[in-house]
Amino acid sequence: MPKRSAKKQTSLLIPGNPTGSLSIAALEDIIALARTFGVREVQITSAKRLALCGFAEADREELATAVAEKFQGPDAMLQGYIVCCRGRRQCPHGCRQTEALSQGLTDLLASLSLPAKVKIGISGCPRNCSAGSTRDVGLFANMKGWVVVFGGNAGCRPRIADTIAEGLSRQAALQAVEKCLDFYSKNALPRERTARFVERLGITTIKEIIIAP
Ligand code: SF4
Repeated sequence: MPKRSAKKQTSLLIPGNPTGSLSIAALEDIIALARTFGVREVQITSAKRLALCGFAEADREELATAVAEKFQGPDAMLQGYIVCCRGRRQCPHGCRQTEALSQGLTDLLASLSLPAKVKIGISGCPRNCSAGSTRDVGLFANMKGWVVVFGGNAGCRPRIADTIAEGLSRQAALQAVEKCLDFYSKNALPRERTARFVERLGITTIKEIIIAP
């Protein structure tokens, strides 16, 4: 098999942006950066992020600095990421707005030390466009409030997440996720994803501990 060149393999994520929405100005900034650094292509990732792909490895540091100057966001992807749909503000099906919850969870992720990557999906209605049922943490809205699910996974060993609580306010949903992730971070094995963690301990046990006052 022919060896791929180093330039083809390089990639760098644009940080932040859980909703996948970009202003025209931000797009123009990305194009300008791509032209300046000879970026071969821009990829849309499965987490709705943009990744600059195919630049000279020697330019990585300078490109990363230029990206950081233009795009603020969590140093993401190291601990996990959040995917968020457009919610009620922009989607006719939306029951609730998603932006504030996304920001609260971004802050929460940044404050935690987690044993493995945590992917979060937030959806503004039960259509669940952000696929929360197959993410470590999923939140979707219905007419009664937020539903929080935990322990989902896609990939090689898929698992549908279990419902932790429903009918929650935004604040209560944030607290429920914080309790889940706090318990997970203190009791999971190194690099154990939430799906395997829930299978090992059992969702009943986890729910009893998390829901306990
Ligand atoms: S989950 Fe619902 S609110 Fe969000 S984009 Fe899909 S249809 Fe719209």
